[in-house]
Amino acid sequence: MRLVFLGPPGGGKGTQAEILAEKRQLPAISTGQILREAAQSEILGPVVRRTIDEGNLVPDNLMIRIVEDRLRRPDCRRGFILDGFPRTVAQADELGRLLDRMGLKLDGVILLKVEEEQLVKRLAERRVCSRCGATYHLTSRPPERPGLCDRCGGALKQRDDDREEVVRERFRTYREKTLPLVDYYAARGLLHPIDGDQPIDQVARAIEEALAHLDGPSQAPDGHQGPSPREAAAGQG
Ligand SMILES: [Zn+2]
Repeated sequence: MRLVFLGPPGGGKGTQAEILAEKRQLPAISTGQILREAAQSEILGPVVRRTIDEGNLVPDNLMIRIVEDRLRRPDCRRGFILDGFPRTVAQADELGRLLDRMGLKLDGVILLKVEEEQLVKRLAERRVCSRCGATYHLTSRPPERPGLCDRCGGALKQRDDDREEVVRERFRTYREKTLPLVDYYAARGLLHPIDGDQPIDQVARAIEEALAHLDGPSQAPDGHQGPSPREAAAGQG
């Protein structure tokens, strides 16, 4: 299953991508993560580091190379979840061409819909592990021990990015650059809008329901998407 997750920055798509990835045993590929990896790599590293250090966005032609490197790894053979890419219609076109070259196609695009005011409120309570980057929320996903990461014991902190004026600025960028992707993917019959203003487990369930029709053998004959045994088994999560 090959999916793209869309939604405003901080709107929970990273969390949902991770939840679904774990359930389906697929890699969740976030732009931030592959950029950090690329910055360490021998070939692309220097130019990626320079771009980031200068505070610039990585240009599309470089970004698509980084994405391609990642999608060609063996763990993507059964599928993948892209979180944070594409962010623009131009990148979506690039991704489409890349998948064409690889003989693959997207199965679906999950759009997490979150209102700006809700987002501002939600991010005020977000905490991030300073060591491993795991994210928490004081109300909906608190750590077991206050102030400490469940995974690695690192200290939790609030990110500068979660300040209100930063959130509103990023939302404005999202509205301008990324929301056109909604029409783009809707026109291709791939879009699944999900109400993101719900508790995490309810959002996760809504995503599963939206994807239920995609279950089953991916090499199904054209026009035949009958229910599969896996679909029946998927309800137990
Ligand atoms: Zn941690």
